[in-house]
Amino acid sequence: MSLTPEQLADRVLAWYETHGRELPWRHTRDPYAILVSEVMLQQTQVDRVIEPWTAWLERWPTAGELAAASRAEVISAWQGLGYNRRAVSLHEAARHLAEHGIPQDQAGWHALPGVGPYTAAAICALALDHDVIPLDVNILRILERSLGATELEPPPGRAHDLTQGLFDLGATVCLARIPRCDVCPLADLCPSRGQRYEPLRKQSTFEGSRRQARSRLLDQLREAPLALGSFDPALAALLIKDGLAEQVDGLLRLPR
Ligand code: SF4
Repeated sequence: MSLTPEQLADRVLAWYETHGRELPWRHTRDPYAILVSEVMLQQTQVDRVIEPWTAWLERWPTAGELAAASRAEVISAWQGLGYNRRAVSLHEAARHLAEHGIPQDQAGWHALPGVGPYTAAAICALALDHDVIPLDVNILRILERSLGATELEPPPGRAHDLTQGLFDLGATVCLARIPRCDVCPLADLCPSRGQRYEPLRKQSTFEGSRRQARSRLLDQLREAPLALGSFDPALAALLIKDGLAEQVDGLLRLPR
């Protein structure tokens, strides 16, 4: 007997009730707050996002307040999260929200800077209760292994909890290389139960990379502007191109 999408949804929802992780953005349905969490989580691990997300929402509780902040303040507050271009996109997205209001569909969210199809679907599921499951790499892995599918229709009104449950199952049980099938709620009906997988392609190392050098230069700018001749102009050009710095009167500084 094989697993059906309905069985998967029922089991993951039941499992989530007792095994779901306690994460602060799960207590809000505010689309702006969910947007901030999704953008931070795009390239940063969950445990490194909890504190910055909480501080961010305390400092800028609404899109309007973030929109009114200076670009330099926003870039400074992003420190420690990495992939700093996201701070610029989030600031631009907040300005769009403050001016045009909250989009009500995926296309509207996707039109915002830094919001791809996955993030648009996640906001619609988690904030607006749309019946859609966002497909990130963890959720796709579970669907492919257990159903041989690449999409899932949630039971009406359950997209929020089902998405969160799938996030958690992917992060803690159906792991990329060595899934923990012995504690999986889908195990008895999953055709992939017990399989092992090849190591994932190794990410290029950050240490000693150009990305690290650029990030260090940005950290220096967070402290104070730099005079011409005291920084690598090629690195500065990369920051300027990404909207993370500007050169004015011989000084390199965060954009005002
Ligand atoms: S039984 Fe194993 S492979 Fe199948 S969904 Fe669960 S953890 Fe993943």
